[in-house]
Amino acid sequence: MFNPLEEAMKIKDEIISWRREFHMYPELGYEEERTSKIVEEHLKEWGFKIKRVGTGIIADIGSGERTVALRADMDALPIQEENEVPYKSRIPGKMHACGHDAHTAMLLGAAKIIAEHEEELNNRVRLIFQPAEEGGNGALKMIEGGALENVDAIFGLHVWAELESGVIGLRKGPFLAGVGKFNVKIIGKGGHGAAPQYAIDPVPAVAEAILALQRIVAREIDPLESAVVTVGKVQGGTAFNVIPESVEFEGTFRFFTEELGGFIRQRIAEIVSEVAKAHRCRVEVKTEILGPPTINDDRMVELVREVAQGLGLKVGEVRKTLGGEDFAFYLQRVPGAFIALGIRNEKKGIIYPHHNPRFDVDEDVLPLGTALEVAIAFNFRG
Ligand SMILES: [Zn+2]
Ligand SMILES: [Zn+2]
Repeated sequence: MFNPLEEAMKIKDEIISWRREFHMYPELGYEEERTSKIVEEHLKEWGFKIKRVGTGIIADIGSGERTVALRADMDALPIQEENEVPYKSRIPGKMHACGHDAHTAMLLGAAKIIAEHEEELNNRVRLIFQPAEEGGNGALKMIEGGALENVDAIFGLHVWAELESGVIGLRKGPFLAGVGKFNVKIIGKGGHGAAPQYAIDPVPAVAEAILALQRIVAREIDPLESAVVTVGKVQGGTAFNVIPESVEFEGTFRFFTEELGGFIRQRIAEIVSEVAKAHRCRVEVKTEILGPPTINDDRMVELVREVAQGLGLKVGEVRKTLGGEDFAFYLQRVPGAFIALGIRNEKKGIIYPHHNPRFDVDEDVLPLGTALEVAIAFNFRG
């Protein structure tokens, strides 16, 4: 068989130039028109069978009993880039600050190499270029559009700012957290700040509710498990001497099992309702689970480890994170693995975390990611 790493190194410049092209023209979730057009044109030229799902693309090649899927996300973030680089974002207020430009470019490189060696494939290979990973649950749209039909396993790469450049970061079982959201409105009765006896003040009720929510993680969950409850927004009041009619707050909760997600969700509603009641306030609580935890299949992680070591890549462990990833929706339905690819390079000043206006990717790792994707496609045995 051909050597995927050698092939990827041959097209390294091309992969980097695609990445820079995507980086200069970032598009937000479900608006990936330009990006997906570039991807689609290449895939067609290389002989892939294409199905469009909005701005997403499902692209098939090869034949065989089994289908192995590889996924890249294409969307950017509403962030103003602060890097002074030749490929700086040309679109004000939008930036590829999570590395999805790199994911798209790496998978495009893999597509080119896979197509060149189509006759050596033992499986069908499906490439999924999805929209709206950043809070838009684009993965679900792709699944509704048939992305997982006949798929036996799925793999996705994410560049990883916490990991040294070039290291393939693996993790069995839970890797990223499930994500929940809550909105609370505590309603009292407005009045003069100097006459609280004639009002029902929602402000202390909200203060107490927010503190009480912190006790879910501190006092109700096994200390050896991981979970988060964060209130990220509080809004209420208009003046220093007025008791407002109502105060609102919202936040997120994170968890690694669906059971724990359900428990936290229920406790948020109960605690907030009872605290409001104790303060003679009314309450409106909305809670929802936005996405499940990302749970890797142990066998598929082992497959990736063998493939990566076979290529001579450095393989390490990656820490769990309470961040979320909509790749979880694919892994809920078929076995697979979400893989981290280290991009941290202090010498190049590439040290900023994801979603930071100075986030950047060590481009020398791009062919490594491409090679790993190609090698997974050719070595998958089901
Ligand atoms: Zn992100
Ligand atoms: Zn991301």
